[in-house]
Amino acid sequence: MTEAGPQQRRRSVPVDVGGVLVGGGAPVVVQSMTNTDTADVEETARQVAALAAAGSEIVRITVDRNEAAAAVPRIKERLNKMGVGVPIVGDFHYIGHKLLAEYPACAEALDKYRINPGNVGFKEKKDRQFGAIVETAIKHGKPVRIGANWGSLDQELLTRLMDENARSPSPRDAREVTREAMVQSALLSAERAEEIGLARDRIILSAKVSAVQDLIAVYDDLARRSDYALHLGLTEAGMGSKGIVASAAALSVLLQRGIGDTIRISLTPEPGGDRTLEVKVAQELLQTMGFRVFVPLVAACPGCGRTTSTTFQELARDIQGFIHASMPQWKRSYPGVETLNVAVMGCIVNGPGESKHADIGISLPGTGEQPAAPVFIDGKKVATLRGATVAAEFKQMVIDYIARRFGQAGAGRTAAE
Ligand code: SF4
Repeated sequence: MTEAGPQQRRRSVPVDVGGVLVGGGAPVVVQSMTNTDTADVEETARQVAALAAAGSEIVRITVDRNEAAAAVPRIKERLNKMGVGVPIVGDFHYIGHKLLAEYPACAEALDKYRINPGNVGFKEKKDRQFGAIVETAIKHGKPVRIGANWGSLDQELLTRLMDENARSPSPRDAREVTREAMVQSALLSAERAEEIGLARDRIILSAKVSAVQDLIAVYDDLARRSDYALHLGLTEAGMGSKGIVASAAALSVLLQRGIGDTIRISLTPEPGGDRTLEVKVAQELLQTMGFRVFVPLVAACPGCGRTTSTTFQELARDIQGFIHASMPQWKRSYPGVETLNVAVMGCIVNGPGESKHADIGISLPGTGEQPAAPVFIDGKKVATLRGATVAAEFKQMVIDYIARRFGQAGAGRTAAE
């Protein structure tokens, strides 16, 4: 019997984005985007650094006006001084051709340009302005993401397809025609970019929509009709659990089908909320699906009527928070620590079993059980903790286990396993 896994990964043309490989079988890349005013160099550099520290491997920034374009090389300089080398993508709409021409230092500092074929210009200006951006990309040796978006779809193309559909003897549903317009908008623009001279390995496509089933259908089509690297994201996903669930639902179906070379989770943050949440969600999505490994996972049961105290919830939360806070340092000292699995369980029903499957696990006592918490390491019971110090003692056991297994002395063992 073979282990369940994703379908074979779609083979796309690899693209080098400032040293990060996208596509061509490379691991799926996590992206994010700032929400600062790019003209504010300090604030933007600070947020880029925070997103990169959270694990974003490429960060996009808005380049919407002269002041923003002028700030880009200074942001890059500031990041270099901070020791942050994450590739930066410039997001251009309407006047990208002008900004890139008038601010060559911006064009050079960016690692990729993102252009939206629906917003690049209208009527006779469209081809000229699109061509100017592509020529700048060729001149500076930069890749381009051609990113169609449901909210700013090329209206001329959509109208033409709608008219053709209306004349057809068997017209399709208007939604299907809109989806086709999204796919064509990306593909025709990519074709045009290649005609101008942009190499295939400098092109990434995206076609973001806000409804899960539409997104799946559009990307299925894109993947079937081209071999360009694909950036996935559900646009306008929303806030909180709605945004997370909708993004995860859409992206996981596509990733499972082998589609997608880079992802972004477009969450609307709470006012004053943490922008890095979108990075955490992207990583957790890839890790829980088994595509990549970023941080140790803590398995915890949901709790039920057998858990009368909050000790177990507090311990699960403490251990998870402790692991996240310790990871920057652990990554340096304990290579491979991200593969660690910890279990924190609420009672004897599933506690010992689940704890045995983890590298290190604890089963706390449920209602009516002896006030004792057995700890399991590598499948074997090694200790029984009791009393008020259970949490502190278990945390120390996790630290000791990590040092033993992933520290210098344990490195040989880790590699051999
Ligand atoms: S392991 Fe125990 S406490 Fe946790 S959900 Fe299952 S029965 Fe409830």
